[in-house]
Amino acid sequence: MLVYKFGGTSVGSVVNINHVKDIIDNNDRKIVVLSAMSGTTNALIEISNLIKSNKNEVAIERIKTLNENYNTAVYDLLHNKSLRQEVSDYVNMIFKNLIEATKKTYSTQLHNSIVASGELLSTHMFSRFLQQEGFQVVLLPALDFMRIDSNNEPDNFYIKQNLTRLIDSQSEADIYITQGFICLDTDGEITNLQRGGSDYTATIIGAAIEADEVQIWTDIDGFHNNDPRFVNDTKTLSYLSYVEAAELAYFGAKILHPQTVMPVRRLDIPLRLKNTMAPDAHGTLITNQTHGDGIKAIAAKDGITAIKIKSVRMLLAHGFLKKVFEIFETYETAIDMITTSEIAVSLTIDDVTNLETIVSELQKFAQVEVEDYMSIACLVGNNIIYHPDTPALFQVLQDVNVRMIAYGGSNNNISLLVNTSDKLETLQKLQRYVFEAQPQFAALNMN
Ligand code: ADP
Ligand code: ASP
Ligand code: MG
Repeated sequence: MLVYKFGGTSVGSVVNINHVKDIIDNNDRKIVVLSAMSGTTNALIEISNLIKSNKNEVAIERIKTLNENYNTAVYDLLHNKSLRQEVSDYVNMIFKNLIEATKKTYSTQLHNSIVASGELLSTHMFSRFLQQEGFQVVLLPALDFMRIDSNNEPDNFYIKQNLTRLIDSQSEADIYITQGFICLDTDGEITNLQRGGSDYTATIIGAAIEADEVQIWTDIDGFHNNDPRFVNDTKTLSYLSYVEAAELAYFGAKILHPQTVMPVRRLDIPLRLKNTMAPDAHGTLITNQTHGDGIKAIAAKDGITAIKIKSVRMLLAHGFLKKVFEIFETYETAIDMITTSEIAVSLTIDDVTNLETIVSELQKFAQVEVEDYMSIACLVGNNIIYHPDTPALFQVLQDVNVRMIAYGGSNNNISLLVNTSDKLETLQKLQRYVFEAQPQFAALNMN
């Protein structure tokens, strides 16, 4: 069995939904995971924020506009009268619930249930559309099997048990459709896997059913060697290893939710990235194999905060680092980068929920400086720290204000901390110095 996941743009218009139909029109049995239509999750978050700030009338206006857009899409997608009526009733019911939500007191639970509407809409519309087109299709509600535990990790045992039961009880179908992104928490409340989480849904499902392959279909021809939103002339990487893809996703490559790779890596299930708008293009195949050494790709992650911790005794006393790390552990805050000197340790975090408390704890034995609006540019590839051409990247240091470097922590990653205002320039210069000035890197990667 295969898992196919289609993102927001892929299901964002009637034309694209027809592309999706053509892509899945083959003999493979499959589970199809869908995101919300593009723009919908953002619109729902905005609506929820309006409710939070008591701007209910504006929220109702937004809900009505979105409802009208969906009515148009339903009309264009479904010509079968009874299916069109049924979908139309479902869509209007979802929007009626959103209007009801404007009368409720704001809470995180209310927010999560509002935001879940996008995937409920897209999957309902798509499943009925496929029925109209003569496919044997079953809609599997994600909230009947997808659950996270108290650590926000997928509850794999529960997911496998319930998903298998649902599939086995409807074994006549060729295509099972389900919602990406949404799930339940341990209290049975609706929650989600964070922005972009449909990718993660797909690989969690892939692992649960031990799929032959998971395919992520999006609006670009696979993983590029740099962020195409900020850099021109980026190139598709035909192959990546799980390790490389996971590092790039963690360090901000938007094409994959940061956690996507983990479930499939565990079971060695191939992960393929494909372009819905160009289905014949090779895309990127991610497996446990590495293809070539050296810098393969660059990604950047924003929202980084740097913390410099100076020992008040001149030298880094024995036990100093232990005390520092214990504080971050107590407040469950992951550290991304770290460097040390004789008197100070600098590190970066992206979760600032407990920053104030962490800083006041640190100040009991150290001087602390905090800087925000930082970004990490991360260079990834197999054995990059040993590759003879890698030092060329240090030319960038003459040109860009690099605040911190992590080199050698792993063989596959070099991280540079820069001010977010310098990120664009850093990515563009890295592209020039690393891939354009040294085409052997590019040649190496296109195999
Ligand atoms: P979907 O809605 O299908 O999940 P996303 O917008 O989440 O799509 O991810 C695809 C987008 O990721 C691309 O359109 C591209 O702008 C962006 N992106 C960022 N970094 C990369 C990269 N290294 N390779 C490919 N795309 C990237
Ligand atoms: N619709 C959700 C989002 O926009 C999940 C996804 O697209 O993967 O974040
Ligand atoms: Mg995405």
